[in-house]
Amino acid sequence: MVLDSPDRPLRAAELPDPVPNAGDLLLRVRACGVCRTDLHLRDGELPAGHAPLVLGHQIVGEVVAAGERVAGARGAQLGARVGVPWLGWTCGECRYCVSGRENLCARAQFTGCDRDGGFAELTVADARFCFPLPERAAGEAPPSGAPDPLADEQLAPLLCAGLIGYRALQMAGDAERLGLYGFGAAAHLICQVAVHEGRRVFAFTREDDRAGRRFARELGAVWAGGSAERPPEELDAALIFAPVGALVPIALRAVARGGTVVCAGIHMSDIPSFPYVDLWGERTLRSVANLTRDDGEAFLALAPRVPLRTQVTTYPLDAAEQALSDLRGGAFEGAAVLRLA
Ligand SMILES: [Zn+2]
Ligand SMILES: [Zn+2]
Repeated sequence: MVLDSPDRPLRAAELPDPVPNAGDLLLRVRACGVCRTDLHLRDGELPAGHAPLVLGHQIVGEVVAAGERVAGARGAQLGARVGVPWLGWTCGECRYCVSGRENLCARAQFTGCDRDGGFAELTVADARFCFPLPERAAGEAPPSGAPDPLADEQLAPLLCAGLIGYRALQMAGDAERLGLYGFGAAAHLICQVAVHEGRRVFAFTREDDRAGRRFARELGAVWAGGSAERPPEELDAALIFAPVGALVPIALRAVARGGTVVCAGIHMSDIPSFPYVDLWGERTLRSVANLTRDDGEAFLALAPRVPLRTQVTTYPLDAAEQALSDLRGGAFEGAAVLRLA
């Protein structure tokens, strides 16, 4: 499924099979999550790296071939199941890359934006940026009750919604009273992590989204309300997942002195001006950009210990445009995933 230009529906196309260069893996895509960033690219709110472009950066794929120089790389064995995240390549030599901040590399290439992504049957990815995914030991039965947490479509949303949400949660420090603004794919995963860590979660949804508030309570939020509502007590930190700049001053007014507001999305509408007193009291306002491979390894190790359950709505590959439009309209709870296998 290719994006020819912004504001045009994705189109099914027959492209030549991608060829793995040195260091790359050729993957047969088994599932690919649909992220709000895909929607921003589709709608022209973020610039696409090239056109036509294959979107999708939450890829669960099976290794079917490897380019030169990947022998011995973890997860590179033929048949292995690997995950491909948004961070597709970094230079490895700039001041960010050499100081543990490869997420800020100015030359970074992003999956499904600069490099073709996973809304396709085949894709290539740099082996160094692929994560091995947890597998069940031979003979071990899946846990009773659906869904199986190790199924392809369950794991796909961890690769961006979960992982970048987890990086945002780290920025909240040891906040005990945690606000989540926008209860979509990322928040529904991070809510479970936060509850597991003993935090109390306060969920904020659109005013008319009663189903979203019920969903948040089911996942352990102690309170859920509309985003303009004042929570019943002050928050220690707030993570903003909704791409709505007007939430920034609202969240600043909801956090206590010394509290932190983290903007977790890649795109946001303009932030309205607000009085300095809302920031005063050593409140911190910051953004989170991308991910490092260390974030990914830490989060994927944590996920089965929670254990994380992903609420997934699946679509076939050729319904990618429908999945994006359902995401735009808030038609489902949790995450959307294209399932190919
Ligand atoms: Zn770099
Ligand atoms: Zn994403």
